[in-house]
Amino acid sequence: MVNLVFLGPPGAGKGTYAKELVKKLNIPHISTGDMFRETAASGTELGNKIKEIMERGDLVPDELVNQMVKERLKRDDCSSGFILDGYPRTVEQAKALDEMLKELGRELTWAIFFDVPEEVVVRRLTNRRICPKCGRIYNLLTMPPKEDNLCDVCKVPLVQREDDREEVVRRRYRVYMEKTFPVVEYYGKTGKLQKLDGTVGLERVIEEVLKLVK
Ligand code: AMP
Repeated sequence: MVNLVFLGPPGAGKGTYAKELVKKLNIPHISTGDMFRETAASGTELGNKIKEIMERGDLVPDELVNQMVKERLKRDDCSSGFILDGYPRTVEQAKALDEMLKELGRELTWAIFFDVPEEVVVRRLTNRRICPKCGRIYNLLTMPPKEDNLCDVCKVPLVQREDDREEVVRRRYRVYMEKTFPVVEYYGKTGKLQKLDGTVGLERVIEEVLKLVK
């Protein structure tokens, strides 16, 4: 059983690494950002509220996030482990996760912190494009699609996330430093933290993560 938390600034590559590791480790990738994007697209009152928060680059209230993750971790597919991507994002959430794991009789394997400087984050995110159909992630500079702005697999035009515009990216980074960096320090104190350089490229990062969990 491998229970992982992925930490790092927006644009550290957490989602990309998680998608790659799911295939190798056979555990689910739980992205609270993806879950909220789904809720935001639902057109419900709650969805609209969340959409507004996300478009500003702010955080969804802890209680709502914690409840959602708690339900998700109870599902059968998590019995062999999980990769939590984008959660916990505040120390409150980290404490709530500790409680959830205790209730489930589980222990965190590692909190892995992907270290990436702000300017790299801004360059990556403003060049990030997503396939709206399959969710594949591209980067116009480092991982461009084979055909101009089309998904390699689905052949549909790629889109940019609202919150990947530069001014929102800068705000998300500030929120990250203020609210989420303390989570890195929190895990540092528990002996569960592993720090990896998030700028060395997909293959090397994956290799390092696999070394940690084998
Ligand atoms: P992400 O795709 O992880 O960058 O998340 C996109 C947005 O969803 C964030 O900017 C937040 O508005 C919201 N979000 C995702 N995960 C969390 C979380 N754990 N706590 C609060 N807000 C979150």
